[in-house]
Amino acid sequence: MSDLVQIENLVKYFDIGPDQRVHAVDDISLTIGEREIVGLVGESGSGKSTLGKAVVGLHDKTSGTVKYRGELLPQKYTPHDFQTHATRMQMIFQDPYSSLNPRMTVGEIIGEGLKLHSGLDTAKVREQVGDWLERVGLEADHMSRYPHEFSGGQRQRIGIARALILEPEFVVCDEPISALDVSVQAQVVNLLDELKQTMGLTLLFIAHDLSMVRYVSDRMAVMYLGSLVEIGPADEVFFRPKHPYTQILVGSNPEADPKRERSRPSTAIQGEIPSPVNVPPGCRFANRCPEVMPTCHSETPTLITLKDVTAGKSPRQVACHLFNSDTLN
Ligand code: SF4
Repeated sequence: MSDLVQIENLVKYFDIGPDQRVHAVDDISLTIGEREIVGLVGESGSGKSTLGKAVVGLHDKTSGTVKYRGELLPQKYTPHDFQTHATRMQMIFQDPYSSLNPRMTVGEIIGEGLKLHSGLDTAKVREQVGDWLERVGLEADHMSRYPHEFSGGQRQRIGIARALILEPEFVVCDEPISALDVSVQAQVVNLLDELKQTMGLTLLFIAHDLSMVRYVSDRMAVMYLGSLVEIGPADEVFFRPKHPYTQILVGSNPEADPKRERSRPSTAIQGEIPSPVNVPPGCRFANRCPEVMPTCHSETPTLITLKDVTAGKSPRQVACHLFNSDTLN
């Protein structure tokens, strides 16, 4: 699998006042292979959405780089850059209502980007919008209706059609199911999975629900307070979490799965996530970690690759002083 997206030492800070900055994304490196789905999990405020938006240019990068097929993407996008990259990279947003302009018909919403980027005439754009409405499980004649006439699940399908009509190679799905009823979540995930198979999409899939992420993803990455703390094959991270934070996150996941091997009993996460404005020294998880050691308060753990015993497997990486490169995966 060749690399499609390479994120290197990406940092995104938001200045909020004199000498005050939100450390939303702090030095994240992550490579996403062609046709791979990487699930990104973590609590609210961990920086997942900011990372996704910085990768597709919706946030300027404070520092670090993103490469797409080896080509360095801009630190700060101009309208021209968006136009250049829109046909390669798209984003599906969390809230299917607020991301759709209520004054535009569904046909205008879905066809807007295609009209801009393809040069197709109005009749051809309408034809493709109709095809895409059917592809996402709606009806072609829905194109004359407005977003408020649809349910939450249908609106998310409209958002998916809008993003995919340009046939991008890479899509960031930012919590695409969290605003939906549980019964609709599986339908939307199955739709994305089907479209991934037919279009050969590469996805960064951001979500809260770990079992859903495991279901759709090849690899799972775990963020905590702007940092990546664990990454590896999705099943491995879900069934054999290594980082204490991942263990608690998996333990608090509602799905009871007998296959899961937990080395520790399930516990609710204790304490408050520190402020991203005053990031503590050392390990950012130290004030909540059941395994904390004195060194954790002063030395910042970096992601290390664990010793892999299975050839051909994606490596497991963990940022925690409990592990070193001699630790078996
Ligand atoms: Fe816990 Fe220390 Fe590991 Fe951080 S580095 S997760 S505090 S054991």
